Amino acid sequence: MVIVMQAGASPRQVEHVVQMVREMKLKEHVIVGTERTVVAVIGDDRQKDRTVFETVEGVERVVPILAPYKMASSEVKKERSIIPLRPNTSARLGGIKVGVIAGPCSVESKAQISEIAHAVKEAGAIGLRGGAFKPRSNPYSFQGIGEEGLKWLAEAREQTGLVIVTEVMAVEQIPAVAEHADVLQIGARNMQNFNLLMAVGQQPKPILLKRGLSATLEEFLLAAEYVMKHGNDQVLLCERGIRTYEDYVRNTLPLASVPELHRLTHLPVVVDPSHGTGKSHLVPDMCRAAVAAGADGLMVEVHNDPEHAWTDGAQSINPKQFEAMMKSIKRIAQAIDRDA
Ligand code: PEP
Ligand code: MN
Repeated sequence: MVIVMQAGASPRQVEHVVQMVREMKLKEHVIVGTERTVVAVIGDDRQKDRTVFETVEGVERVVPILAPYKMASSEVKKERSIIPLRPNTSARLGGIKVGVIAGPCSVESKAQISEIAHAVKEAGAIGLRGGAFKPRSNPYSFQGIGEEGLKWLAEAREQTGLVIVTEVMAVEQIPAVAEHADVLQIGARNMQNFNLLMAVGQQPKPILLKRGLSATLEEFLLAAEYVMKHGNDQVLLCERGIRTYEDYVRNTLPLASVPELHRLTHLPVVVDPSHGTGKSHLVPDMCRAAVAAGADGLMVEVHNDPEHAWTDGAQSINPKQFEAMMKSIKRIAQAIDRDA
């Protein structure tokens, strides 16, 4: 951090700031300018409380230099992380290839998930998504099929070889979800469920962490840091849109977050244009835009009968539309020296 002193701060006030820096076991470098003095703090101050300086006499402001997250930061690890999605397979995210995870919002039946799994596999997906436990705004809405859905997902993996991505909503669900899934999804509404983040950090399967509806990128990366700090550095960040005043979409999909996250972190970035727009007619275009923006992966809701989907039918594309989208992102990926 850099502590900027007020114009006219006395030498005694500067000395007091220097003493405080030293008490924190950090070093200082005092720069005396013509207008004002600046105290540059040398050393890792991320564990320290920077705000204590703000109320000290003679201090104008405190400017953080290091990001508050560490393990997730590109300051600490320069090369991009490649996250394997399942041991002994080539499925991964973060490399040259843009990986696509597709499937229904909710697992509805054994036949439904199996049919969709075959369709998305055929079109080139690497992963199958589908919620067995659903976080619903309305407690009277369908809450997910539960544990049986996890078994149907695992069966679909046996049939297709797809990586299974499914949401875990609570700490007590982790053993069952981790038993059947390859990647554990943390939903947007749970992005700051710190107990859940710490618990999934203590198990070995990769985590797909969705951005909270109103989370800043810093909060998003601090949530990833929770998982990493507890032992699991296999984190995929998923931009799924944020809430704004705009109402032509369900959420606003801020694609500038993709290159910005790539600047701030080494973790792979996945974009979910389904929740990011809420409208199926917008999904293929936003998939293409996400790939053009540098997304490492896509997560797309695909349903064999969107009109009758139990959840999120309005934002689900059908297998035919999915297949066309997959063809078109290949060309975009190649144009930016990637593959899909
Ligand atoms: C989902 O992926 O179906 C889901 C509930 O997403 P989100 O947590 O982003 O709303
Ligand atoms: Mn959904």
